[in-house]
Amino acid sequence: MAYDSDNIFAKILRGEIPCKKVYEDDYALAFHDVRPQADIHVLVIPKGEYISNDDFSLSAPEDLIVGFWRAVATVGRELEIVESGYRLLANHGLNAHQTVDHFHVHLFGGHPLGPMLYKVR
Ligand code: AMP
Repeated sequence: MAYDSDNIFAKILRGEIPCKKVYEDDYALAFHDVRPQADIHVLVIPKGEYISNDDFSLSAPEDLIVGFWRAVATVGRELEIVESGYRLLANHGLNAHQTVDHFHVHLFGGHPLGPMLYKVR
């Protein structure tokens, strides 16, 4: 599967559609999820054309991988939820219900988040 540069997060990165920005640096952009599933629900995306963790972690240059994960941690600090705690989640592919094919990490927080996964069967 090839990266589709018309995906919605690519458009956000190019500034073609707006987002509620939380943080940005050379490696990553973080913004509020449009359909939040927790009081704090932020998405962090790398500045590069990667579909999911599968090709990001295996194909991206090391400085981008390090910069991206440092950005994720920085977002946690900027949101002041390091002490209270937060959860990171990244969906890859069909079974995980990935809906946007630009690698992204969900960051949830702001209150107790409950069990990690609901049992689906
Ligand atoms: P995933 O299911 O992991 O691919 O998650 C994609 C997420 O992107 C969902 O939580 C959506 O609510 C969110 N989303 C889709 N479009 C936008 C947008 N324009 N701005 C912010 N979040 C978005």
